[in-house]
Amino acid sequence: KLKVITIDGPAGSGKSTVAKIVAQNLGWIYVTTGAIYRTLALLFHESNIKVTDLENTERFISFITERYRQESNSGQVFIGERDITNEIKAPFVSELASILAQEDFVRKRLLPIQRKVVLNNNGAVVDGRDMGTVVFPDAPLKIFLTASVKERAERRLKELNQSGQKTDIKEILREIHERDERDLNRTFSPLKPALDAISLDSTKSSQEEIAKKILQFAVQ
Ligand code: C5P
Repeated sequence: KLKVITIDGPAGSGKSTVAKIVAQNLGWIYVTTGAIYRTLALLFHESNIKVTDLENTERFISFITERYRQESNSGQVFIGERDITNEIKAPFVSELASILAQEDFVRKRLLPIQRKVVLNNNGAVVDGRDMGTVVFPDAPLKIFLTASVKERAERRLKELNQSGQKTDIKEILREIHERDERDLNRTFSPLKPALDAISLDSTKSSQEEIAKKILQFAVQ
């Protein structure tokens, strides 16, 4: 049986924290696929190319496929030797990542790297937007995690403050609405629960409580 638990949901629904707790408890690795889209966005930003520039996009995606690395325990993200963990959390990176994620060919080309980082390991909890629907349709346990927009914005604010970036709640709300809009309405693999996903709402539950529920499903 495939040892993969997928956790999909909108920005700030608590996916990453929950996925980490579940992974730790199972002794599995934790993989966040948003970091791959963010890495692509960072490379785009640094080299000033447009998404319509197909040739360079191809080049970047190959580059990432060869050099991308995520450390499960520390959550660090590397491209080659370069640690980009904090850089990829910047709001402009989130925004550009969600714009690039609308492109069909970008999503298709990023499928192999997402599968590779997960399947190279004996057991993974993976978070994203289309893990249960597109990337790991055969995963035996799929979770769709939601929370109110207000709760999600507050969590995002806390996260950003912790990584030393200044922003305010209004700015984050605007950003979340924009990202939701793009993630829900794109034509290729829009954000939606897989038919066999279990939906959980984390608005009123702590991330520990949600993780506990998922672990109960995992042992069944
Ligand atoms: O999850 P995170 O907020 O880090 O993802 C950044 C952006 O990458 C999302 O807003 C989404 O548009 C895109 N993404 C995606 N599919 C995934 C993971 C992330 O489209 N599996």
